Amino acid sequence: MMKQPPADVVWHPHQVSKATRAHAKGLNTSAVLWFTGLSGSGKSTIANALEQRLAELGYHTYLLDGDNVRHGLNRDLGFSDADRMENIRRIGEVSKLFVDAGLLVLTAFISPFQADRQLVRQLHKDREFIEIFVDTPLAVCEQRDPKGLYLKARTGAIKHFTGIDSTYEAPIAAEIHLKTVEMDIDSCVSAILQYLNDGGYLRQSVSGFSDAL
Ligand code: ADP
Repeated sequence: MMKQPPADVVWHPHQVSKATRAHAKGLNTSAVLWFTGLSGSGKSTIANALEQRLAELGYHTYLLDGDNVRHGLNRDLGFSDADRMENIRRIGEVSKLFVDAGLLVLTAFISPFQADRQLVRQLHKDREFIEIFVDTPLAVCEQRDPKGLYLKARTGAIKHFTGIDSTYEAPIAAEIHLKTVEMDIDSCVSAILQYLNDGGYLRQSVSGFSDAL
């Protein structure tokens, strides 16, 4: 799974660089915003709201959503430990390509294991991987249960469900930490925009951008 390409498969350097493509998209640095958290913590909701705000500001984004990827690229994968790992590895490689294309990539996967997230982080250059911990207590996620999955997990209809009978390893040093019990969706979105702004990711002037916050 982690093997190297054959020796005669050679990487082609291209004339148009990642930085050039990022500039064309209004960015100084393209990056992936990697949302991680329990099911129902708010990853998709916040990523969607953020993507909408970024689109209004004129940014070119791409949102990779867990279930959607499993319909196509990863439809051959199940939920064994090995398949979950391969699922995240492929998503990491896809997000790397989109970052290379000069975009802001948003991903919304539970990605429960520290080692898998670390592997994806290492695929990217410094600053290009922004881990966002959507921190919502299990009891709150279970109460929200937007897809009815916790109910199924509690009754045993779904096995190996994160938070119930499969572990979630919380990030130790996420770039952005969102406590959704204390922050509404708008505040979460603003905190991420602020991070991108303060980190110099966006080429737009700070004053012009602040108005949009
Ligand atoms: P996930 O993608 O992590 O599985 P979802 O985004 O599908 O989670 O579901 C989260 C649910 O929690 C949604 O119904 C959303 O409206 C609700 N919610 C309540 N407060 C917040 C908040 N502050 N941030 C994000 N979602 C919230």
